[in-house]
Amino acid sequence: MAADLEPGVIRKLDEVVVNRIAAGEIIQRPANALKELLENSLDAQSSHIQVQVKAGGLKLLQIQDNGTGIRREDLAIVCERFTTSKLTRFEDLSQIATFGFRGEALASISHVAHLSIQTKTAKEKCGYKATYADGKLQGQPKPCAGNQGTIICIEDLFYNMPQRRQALRSPAEEFQRLSEVLARYAVHNPRVGFTLRKQGDAQPALRTPVASSRSENIRIIYGAAISKELLEFSHRDEVFKFEAECLITQVNYSAKKCQMLLFINQRLVESTAIRTSVDSVYATYLPRGHHPFVYMSLTLPPQNLDVNVHPTKHEVHFLYQEEIADSIKQQVEARLLGSNATRTFYKQLRLPGAPDLDETQSADKTQRIYPKELVRTDSTEQKLDKFLAPLVKSDSGMSSSSSQEASRLPEESFRVTAAKKSREVRLSSVLDMRKRVELQCSVQLRSTLKNLVYVGCVDERRALFQHETRLYMCNTRSFSEELFYQRMIYEFQNCSEITITPPLPLKELLVLSLESEAAGWTSEDGDKAELADSAADILLKKAPIMREYFGLRISENGMLESLPSLLHQHRPCVAFLPVYLLRLATEVDWEQEARCFETFCRETARFYAQLDWREGATAGFSRWTMEHVLFPAFKKYLLPPPRIKDQIYELTNLPTLYKVFERC
Ligand code: ADP
Ligand code: MG
Repeated sequence: MAADLEPGVIRKLDEVVVNRIAAGEIIQRPANALKELLENSLDAQSSHIQVQVKAGGLKLLQIQDNGTGIRREDLAIVCERFTTSKLTRFEDLSQIATFGFRGEALASISHVAHLSIQTKTAKEKCGYKATYADGKLQGQPKPCAGNQGTIICIEDLFYNMPQRRQALRSPAEEFQRLSEVLARYAVHNPRVGFTLRKQGDAQPALRTPVASSRSENIRIIYGAAISKELLEFSHRDEVFKFEAECLITQVNYSAKKCQMLLFINQRLVESTAIRTSVDSVYATYLPRGHHPFVYMSLTLPPQNLDVNVHPTKHEVHFLYQEEIADSIKQQVEARLLGSNATRTFYKQLRLPGAPDLDETQSADKTQRIYPKELVRTDSTEQKLDKFLAPLVKSDSGMSSSSSQEASRLPEESFRVTAAKKSREVRLSSVLDMRKRVELQCSVQLRSTLKNLVYVGCVDERRALFQHETRLYMCNTRSFSEELFYQRMIYEFQNCSEITITPPLPLKELLVLSLESEAAGWTSEDGDKAELADSAADILLKKAPIMREYFGLRISENGMLESLPSLLHQHRPCVAFLPVYLLRLATEVDWEQEARCFETFCRETARFYAQLDWREGATAGFSRWTMEHVLFPAFKKYLLPPPRIKDQIYELTNLPTLYKVFERC
């Protein structure tokens, strides 16, 4: 009996066994080995990479490149653990731009397979061949003939790990995985020619030419059905400091299988955050269970990337992951909308009351939520108006606090014309304005805005919203001004137009403006009619600029024909139009380009941010606009500058309230 209770003797595992276990974690199947070898060949600046396999890479996996080769003197240690030509100090880890950096791949392979390397550098007269076992060179490298570059030959993978070998029973499946990895690298590296061949087959299973292009390689590998639906775009984000190059299918294409080729800093990776956000955009358009084809290459500052989290370095994590995924989502959304005129036919209707995809996904169901932390996540829940203001019923029966009126709009006096085809903005003054907005954006405020839940309007300048457990009041006028200013500079040259029918006489509007208090006219300013004339002259002279860049049209005979349309379903309030026009003539600096755009956009934003709050139908409509147009746009587009913090006041928060009411 007592013998049963004897503790086991702890022994140190044999080093070979330890290494084998570690290697088995890094190299789990032939495709992992191929990925490492491809990365090595690409690091060695090869322009041609040929892969040969037998039995799905389990019998043979050979990769030949025409890169730099390996120096003869390095052959002795190349397969030891932690030997690398790419990293010398720990600090280098954060700066490393090449693929491999831990010097583990070849070592790992040599612990679980028979490995030989044949290589020739430009300096050597002949090549050398060396064989390895358990990280060590066997014998001496032997001179041999050969071209510049390296041939790495892996035979009998997992010969010493019978269970692993057993688990990988299907060579066909392994071959499939190998060709997927190769295909992805081939798309990402179109300048390099890739070949994949099954040993003994006359024809390669896959081949891409040298100096090809990404879309051409997608056509060769994935077929014309995908390549002809591709939308190509690149995007640079100044706030989160990343660049994206993308090739994505339009909504006309869909497949059962989701193909997402994601490279971050040139490495093939998985990122759940990016995958889900891209998927969620397509989910609106594609039939259930169908997916797009997406190729995406992101470049992040290397120090923001943590590639070390997984032994196979597959799933990555990076700083600002959520924000970057969200920014990409917006880009994808915008491109899909911009590219496809028939998109609405594909849009799946959501049943009333069905949860919004984004909102349900972010909730962590396993986490226990205490009552004091309960927050509303559904903006259609009852709102403040119900308790504060009586329902505003207008003649048309429009009320401001039921959610059903969301689709109803008052009689349209303006018609919005379809957006022109997007024109690329090259003016540095405008690009500078955009850059300033992006650089100033407060990341923390951005995240608050993104997740806010609208509670209700207080008055024409103030509204309440909730974020997590806190209730805030904000100055909606400042928010709107900033929003419309940003819309102006991002829609520059591409503004849709709100057509005014019938057109309005500019001069009469200007006279009208001088009558108003806001114009602050005094007799010292001169005769009103003369002032209106000279203001009209200025605007007429500048009409071509306003039409070309902002979609504000004034005809030659002085009729105002259109205004820029900056937000779907938003129309500026006509009551403020006269003063706006006057201010365009007097406050905009028409002399200098950058100043001109800046002041024009600011003035327009000021005009657009004013809502008509006189009681009655218009006030009801303003409330509606606040809730259904402006707040959604704040959430979606507004890049808040830090100064906007002064326009947000925390009123209370749940934990505090809870303390008070718990006592009752
Ligand atoms: P890492 O890539 O992390 O440095 P590896 O074990 O993958 O580690 O490779 C070790 C070293 O072998 C590399 O740093 C590189 O110098 C050399 N090497 C491996 N493959 C090649 C190749 N195809 N061409 C040239 N050099 C290579
Ligand atoms: Mg490597």
